[in-house]
Amino acid sequence: MAEQGNLFEGQDPAARAEALRREIEHHSYQYYALDAPTISDAAFDSLMRELREIEAAHPELVTASSPTQRVGGYVGEQFAPVVHERRMYSLDNAMDLDELDEWMERTAEACGGALPPLCCELKIDGSSIALTYEDGVLVRAATRGDGTTGEDITVNVRTVKDVPLRLRDGALSGIRDADASIELRGECYMPKTSFEVLNAAAESNGKQPFANPRNAAAGSLRQKDPQITAHRDLSTFVYAVGDERKLVAETQWDLLKWLGEAGFHVNPDIALVTSAEEVHEFCRKSLERRDALPYDIDGVVVKVNSFAQQEAMGYTARAPRWAIAFKFPPEEKTTLLRDITVQVGRTGKLTPVAEMDPVLVAGSTVARATLHNEDEVLRKDVRVGDTVIVRKAGDVIPEVLGPVLSLRPDDARPWSMPKECPSCGSPVVREDGEADYRCISIDCPAQALERLLHWASRGAMDIDGMGEEIVRRLVESGRVSDVADYYTLDEVELAQLQTGRTNKEGEPICLGQTIAKKLVAAIDESRTRLFARPLFGLGMRHVGKTMAETLARAFPNMDALMAATEEQLAAVDGVGPKIAHSTYLFLRTPDNVQVIERLAKHGVRLADDVEAQAADALPQTLEGLTFVLTGSLTQSGMKRDEAGAALKARGAKVSGSVSKKTSFVVAGEAAGSKYDKAVALGVPVLDEAALLHIIETGEAPTADGE
Ligand code: NAD
Repeated sequence: MAEQGNLFEGQDPAARAEALRREIEHHSYQYYALDAPTISDAAFDSLMRELREIEAAHPELVTASSPTQRVGGYVGEQFAPVVHERRMYSLDNAMDLDELDEWMERTAEACGGALPPLCCELKIDGSSIALTYEDGVLVRAATRGDGTTGEDITVNVRTVKDVPLRLRDGALSGIRDADASIELRGECYMPKTSFEVLNAAAESNGKQPFANPRNAAAGSLRQKDPQITAHRDLSTFVYAVGDERKLVAETQWDLLKWLGEAGFHVNPDIALVTSAEEVHEFCRKSLERRDALPYDIDGVVVKVNSFAQQEAMGYTARAPRWAIAFKFPPEEKTTLLRDITVQVGRTGKLTPVAEMDPVLVAGSTVARATLHNEDEVLRKDVRVGDTVIVRKAGDVIPEVLGPVLSLRPDDARPWSMPKECPSCGSPVVREDGEADYRCISIDCPAQALERLLHWASRGAMDIDGMGEEIVRRLVESGRVSDVADYYTLDEVELAQLQTGRTNKEGEPICLGQTIAKKLVAAIDESRTRLFARPLFGLGMRHVGKTMAETLARAFPNMDALMAATEEQLAAVDGVGPKIAHSTYLFLRTPDNVQVIERLAKHGVRLADDVEAQAADALPQTLEGLTFVLTGSLTQSGMKRDEAGAALKARGAKVSGSVSKKTSFVVAGEAAGSKYDKAVALGVPVLDEAALLHIIETGEAPTADGE
């Protein structure tokens, strides 16, 4: 339950379970019968998980027909039914390494205390098939269906090129009674590239594309016309037998070996292991290679190797106890939208923010996500009280995809932007053609706080130690209301600034001498930053870091910039009319002019010393190279944008996404999808030590890795 928090707190568990069952049944039908899912697997799994958690907490609510108690599947009427030799099961899932470890502990216990040898395989994301051979000849092929009965798809499967129509000579010696029938099982899949070609063709013919390669494979197998199946590029991996007692092989490992000898396509990425560490390693490596594989995998399957031990462990209603599917971290989850709050930015922009029950998505906890603006909230139709789907891919910002409508409470009302600023109560306005609402009061404390924090931030004036708590206290005490006020602070008054906390005796805690001294030194140091920094720090609309650099190059001091006409500003390469207009307006607004004049009076250097800058410039040895940084840099404690700035200072480009043109990807700890993409595209990956070396020496590794 930890992950979902108190998702259904305050709701009737029976009603919630029933609503979830209906929703799951609907999606199962879309998925298994129509091959046309309308939500992602991860979101589906998240609903299933919630139902499982409710049923675990309230066993009286479990029904025999609950989706948690069955093999999910569908037997249509279009094909003749086939009763399987033995039941075809689903697999239980481990959503993370802890759950995998729990399964290994249970397995060790069931096998007399020690972990038995385990066979690790990739979990192929395709459609289950059962192939029956009689006297070595393929006589029937079926889908998994509901596990007991499948659909006869023999004519279609015969067109799949890597399914042997006859077992290879010699294979029969591996079957105890060579004349008897034997059912072999595996996965039929569509390679990623074939899927893309198929969908591109479907789209250009105005047909509905498939949601993913898995559904494309399942849909292709269940065609009425085998000619259509024959033209779909399908392949198989075979990994199981219906009744292992029919084989000479006594282990999963030997079964895979025999299947290869018999002529089946057996996946080469397999490992026979004896420790939890090796299982973890297999999972980690498989996740790393996932994007580079030509077919989709959605996890790793770990199986007890010995058939005798498998039989002893047995099955639950829907899955074997002797196997587990380790699912790769889902990038989508469902959670409860508790509230939509409104944040006031430094330019007065009001941003709705989704406040959710914390949920683990793609390896990190998500509790808040921006909803951008009112239109976006209405377009997605998310309402407080909704169960929402949250997505996070790699190190990308979390996003609310939308609500699960059938789980919406009756009293959920559409959301609208408040008419007044939540910080200062002034009326908010939305200008024609703009998506955003703004608070236009110059006295709005929320805006002042954001502006002050922005000025002190690393990318701007980098005033070390000037964090939110201190700035908030300075604003509340009335001591600081604009950025120029920072430069009037002294050590004595800062030392006495109350932090808002009290000691054991109930006396207010002040900032103290040491912190005050450091802060004053940091403020002092910020006076001499390059001109682009205060320009960025002023927070003019549309002037980000790069634009501030562009402006500072064109106008090396504030006087020159303030004297520029709108046309002169717009004439600068990279500055469009919109930016020229907002910059011009900002620099003509009396309040802003006053702040700038006071900054100058207090010794903030609002100019670049062009010669000093040239002397400071580092040799541009990294010119022409593009770097992508991913993961966190733990050795040096450097932030990614600091490392990026250091690379740029030597002439490199730093990009946010990996492409074939990327020269190097630097992967810090917990690197995400960018790392996978680099591996897939063959872009060299560097570790943090290599990055530090490059920053220090300016020497990049050569193409051959030297
Ligand atoms: P599953 O796909 O998670 O696991 C069981 C299946 O894994 C087996 O039947 C087998 O076909 C397959 N498999 C692949 N490689 C294997 C290997 N090496 N060894 C053994 N088995 C292997 O479970 P399921 O019950 O088939 O289907 C549930 C899946 O379908 C979930 O991932 C779920 O998200 C998805 N689903 C999605 C929707 C939706 O609307 N998006 C609806 C229903 C189900």
